[in-house]
Amino acid sequence: MPELPEVETTRIGIAPYVLGETVKDVVIRDGRLRWPVPKHIRKKLTGTSVCKLSRRGKYLLFHMKTGCMILHLGMSGSLRILAGEIPPEKHDHVDFIFASGTCMRFRDPRRFGCILWTETDPLEHDLLTGLGPEPLSDELDGEYLFQKSRKRTQAIKTFIMNSHTVVGVGNIYANEALFAAGIHPQRKAGKITRERYRKLAINIKNVLKKALAKGGTTLRDFVNGTGEPGYFSINLQVYNRAGKPCCKCKTQIKVKRIGQRSAFFCPACQT
Ligand SMILES: [Zn+2]
Repeated sequence: MPELPEVETTRIGIAPYVLGETVKDVVIRDGRLRWPVPKHIRKKLTGTSVCKLSRRGKYLLFHMKTGCMILHLGMSGSLRILAGEIPPEKHDHVDFIFASGTCMRFRDPRRFGCILWTETDPLEHDLLTGLGPEPLSDELDGEYLFQKSRKRTQAIKTFIMNSHTVVGVGNIYANEALFAAGIHPQRKAGKITRERYRKLAINIKNVLKKALAKGGTTLRDFVNGTGEPGYFSINLQVYNRAGKPCCKCKTQIKVKRIGQRSAFFCPACQT
């Protein structure tokens, strides 16, 4: 699943090809995504140009002169830049064709992605309002997590994966950040000290930064005819390592379901 680092890498990768470009046409082959692609989006986009491409959580925001297109990659979506006319494949649902001849193609086999249009402040859109801070912003720090977690009885892992707490901490990153901070994933969020939250905030940023750094090396993959944009993984210390020795103390890594998701942890290093 594309996580925040993949979405940010997508943004950086496609920006040079779409910024300032005028939309010549939008081809919706199949608009049945998580929500139907609004039919009027073709009319709204055609003839206007992309002023800014930003990201909020895992939503890409294409700021046009007349409004904003909100795009989410869902579970399996990708955006690619095609230099010329390349026949669409089965899951290539939407093409955005620019006056320059460049095509931005949205592929989404599982159709959990979305493409929406708004003419009001996109940050006030139902999907975006109420989202927690960006993980790499100064707003996310130990003090914020400490204050936000008071009286919360849910597991810390569930707490940091909630987009109302902080956006973009997917399952892999939550597992890795908790291991690096030495915090047991099942510990109650409201019982964790300020000092431990300070360490956790630093480690959330670190794992995401590492993934982003990896993403930088895959940028060229966004511009080609056939390949998929590569998703990238950091060197994982606990995720998917159940039964294997902890890299710090050699204790076997355990796996447990917490809040419907797999938690991988070292029972000795994480308390
Ligand atoms: Zn250990």
